[in-house]
Amino acid sequence: MSDLQALARYSAQIGRDPEQVQAAGGNTSVKENGTLWVKASGLWLADALNRDLFVPVDVAKVLDAIDAGSEDDVKAATIQDGNPAGLRPSIETSLHALLPHRYVIHTHSVRTIAIAIRADAETQLARRLKGLSWAWVPYTFPGLPLTRAIKGAIDSRPIDIVVMGNHGLVVAGDDLEATAELVCEVERRLDAPARALEARQAPPRPGLRPVKHAIVHALADDADLRSIATAGSYYPDHVIFLGPAAATPETRKPGQNLTLEPAAGAYLPEDAPPAADELALCLALVLARVPEGAELVSLTPEQEAALLGWDAEKYRQSLSR
Ligand SMILES: [Zn+2]
Repeated sequence: MSDLQALARYSAQIGRDPEQVQAAGGNTSVKENGTLWVKASGLWLADALNRDLFVPVDVAKVLDAIDAGSEDDVKAATIQDGNPAGLRPSIETSLHALLPHRYVIHTHSVRTIAIAIRADAETQLARRLKGLSWAWVPYTFPGLPLTRAIKGAIDSRPIDIVVMGNHGLVVAGDDLEATAELVCEVERRLDAPARALEARQAPPRPGLRPVKHAIVHALADDADLRSIATAGSYYPDHVIFLGPAAATPETRKPGQNLTLEPAAGAYLPEDAPPAADELALCLALVLARVPEGAELVSLTPEQEAALLGWDAEKYRQSLSR
């Protein structure tokens, strides 16, 4: 099996685990002779064994683009000869090129996010990841700005793990099996008791459809979880697929796609794409792991607007429909 085939197999495995990857979120890569094979934008890791998912990119050109601060130059680094389907490389391509390791695994791990949205995230992580070579990077807009922030944070230290505030986890290594084991080790260390979310059905509502995953309706029932969910957005893919925060039927504003109706359930617009169900499930899984009373940091309205106005993300949204 080639390195790329082995990566595809692992990618499909984590892509099917909603506690690590949801919808088109998360991305993986392998470097071979100066070429970075990175997940294509808008596609689901879960499909890694069913279709061509990886795009070849010239690593040296991406590294130059990081220094130049040019997102266009990152896109232009795609090796078109090896990309017959004309896929676009992941918006997080530059971060995959930056890390020198052969394999880079980026997930939206709910165990990681449940800590990375806390005001005391860095302290929590220092205790739990002690002995591992890790770095913390506060929330930064995905793409080149985030890559450059990571570059500043790792400096010249050898770093295998990056926790990105209000976003997710990156684990890197030169051997796929060892890297996959390190992902498991981080998941174990960041594990926390989760509140039980009771699965049930939700009654129909005009113009809306219940979220597909039955445990998400618990968000509408639990006053504490509902108030956290309606108070803000906590990570980028929530904003991209569900709009800002969550709403109740009384408070819902245009662009808010997740409605929590107390004693009824969690609802999406009738025409919401499947990705919206996966991100609603992600929110339930993350909030279930947040300890009662923990102080959370939500994205600012400016950060939300930046995510919603971004062309690359519009492209991802259109692909997921
Ligand atoms: Zn991400």
